[in-house]
Amino acid sequence: MSPLPLPALGAAALHGPLLEQTGGFGGNALLLTGPARVGKLALAYAVAAQHNCSGVKGMYGEACGSCPSCRALAAGAHPDVLLVEPRATTTTGKAARRKIIPIGAVLEGRDKGREYETHVYEFLEVRPTFARRVVIVQGAEYLGQETANALLKLIEEPPHRALFVLIAEDRRSVLPTLQSRSARLNVAPASDAALGRALAQSGLTQGTASDAELLAFAAGRAGVLEAAAEVRAALTDARTLTGAVEEGMLAALDAAAALEKRWHAAWHPEALRFVWGGRSAAQRARADTALSDLQAALEAYANPALSFQVFALALREAFGEDR
Ligand SMILES: [Zn+2]
Repeated sequence: MSPLPLPALGAAALHGPLLEQTGGFGGNALLLTGPARVGKLALAYAVAAQHNCSGVKGMYGEACGSCPSCRALAAGAHPDVLLVEPRATTTTGKAARRKIIPIGAVLEGRDKGREYETHVYEFLEVRPTFARRVVIVQGAEYLGQETANALLKLIEEPPHRALFVLIAEDRRSVLPTLQSRSARLNVAPASDAALGRALAQSGLTQGTASDAELLAFAAGRAGVLEAAAEVRAALTDARTLTGAVEEGMLAALDAAAALEKRWHAAWHPEALRFVWGGRSAAQRARADTALSDLQAALEAYANPALSFQVFALALREAFGEDR
């Protein structure tokens, strides 16, 4: 399994009432839905922790954090937790155009490209080391019909009482057969105060102004804190570019070239929109169009250096009028 998402240990502070419901959950499958980066994966790990914890539970029924199972989970080495995700790359090494969780994720014999190290079916044949095997499916909307059918058989009669935690942004994009066999829980953004406490506990604080900006950017999404360093860097880059665009043509082109080298598709677009948030609606609309054009060009494998230059020039136009 991959390392534990940072706020998993703070999940009780962020999603206490949800953990109250999941702690005593006696069914076979949970479906967690909610916006991107709201902390669904961290919550799924917190549920896995709850169902394997042998210590004294907290006030929301959250795992103790110190028993052997909790320590294994925090170390990213829990033998009873399997995370299943779509693979981002194809066998040819190119970024996959369309994300999918293939049948090979469930059945070892069908994993032709050997994309998955551990397969759900084989994973569930083994008895739990602690209390309960937990299969977390991150991206349940990417389960095709064949994969979903194979999973449904396991969900209906889970070996050794295994628990499935399915994660999706939008419930409606999950196959109805999976929805109907799962208990559904909506994960809402946390309050700014709760997220601020989680940030303080995480040791990632960097001074009042910087923290305030990070929290404003996060807007209650705990998953943003996991990438605090990348987000702060992206916000700085976004301000640098925006400042350079107003300074002049050469500064704008230089800043665009620098941004190209640091470009992080997960954070820079959102950071740019955040930095432009205080501008006029007309300016924002033109800047958004320039950004969308850049993203489309990059996805189409256009010349990146040229695409960033075009972006910088479009931004100068976007911010040049009706200031
Ligand atoms: Zn524990």
